[in-house]
Amino acid sequence: MPVVFFGHGSPQNALGGNRYTDAWSAFGAQLRPRAVLMISAHWYVAGTRVTASARPRTNHDFVSFKGPVSSFEYPAPGEVALARRVRDLLAPVPVALDERWGYDHGAWNVLANLYPQADVPVIELSLDRTQPPRFHYELAARLAPLRDEGVLIVGSGNVIHNQEIGRNPWPDEPDGWERRFHEDLRRRLDNGDHAGLVAYEKLGPDAQLAIPTPDHYLPFLSILGLQRSDEKPAIVVDGEGTGIDGLGMLSVAMG
Ligand code: ZN
Repeated sequence: MPVVFFGHGSPQNALGGNRYTDAWSAFGAQLRPRAVLMISAHWYVAGTRVTASARPRTNHDFVSFKGPVSSFEYPAPGEVALARRVRDLLAPVPVALDERWGYDHGAWNVLANLYPQADVPVIELSLDRTQPPRFHYELAARLAPLRDEGVLIVGSGNVIHNQEIGRNPWPDEPDGWERRFHEDLRRRLDNGDHAGLVAYEKLGPDAQLAIPTPDHYLPFLSILGLQRSDEKPAIVVDGEGTGIDGLGMLSVAMG
């Protein structure tokens, strides 16, 4: 199985109808995994946890979106045996089997386009907010055996995610930071500069504006951690958010 990172944007993307969701749908249509392991920006907690219920609920973990997405259901089954397998692969890092967390909107807005029938089992792995970026890059690498077992490992976040600027542009916002950071990131991705991308906090002021908090960027590092040395990144879709500043919608697959 390849590994893939999706720039997920708004919960409204669950309903499809734009060039990003069209690209996600096309990606899902040509790939039929046995299960999906989802690493989403929106499960950002103290500790490493994995969903372990047979029927995970659909979380509506946002307040600013009304209408159909506020009652959207993604009824894919979980897979407790796979959750245990993940726990074993990540040992000795302690992994809690979590029977309460369901699919958050970073998971279901992508999955609803990849597998609209919700007939592929899904488990989610949390991001540990107490750990540095390198931890997430290295931890994900230990999930590599799952790729040979038919499990599609998915990261869901946004490589540029500055909601403050997106909603209310700053008077002193420097010109061109988003374009510069995007070009720098794409160049490092093409060159396989994982060290530079992991140490993003040292990439300067443009990176600080693009990644004001780690949550939406860390799933990208998880997918980089799973990229094999003989695999080239394949862009699924790229661009800025529809009508929103401060959002990078890069989606990229490896393998
Ligand atoms: Zn998000």
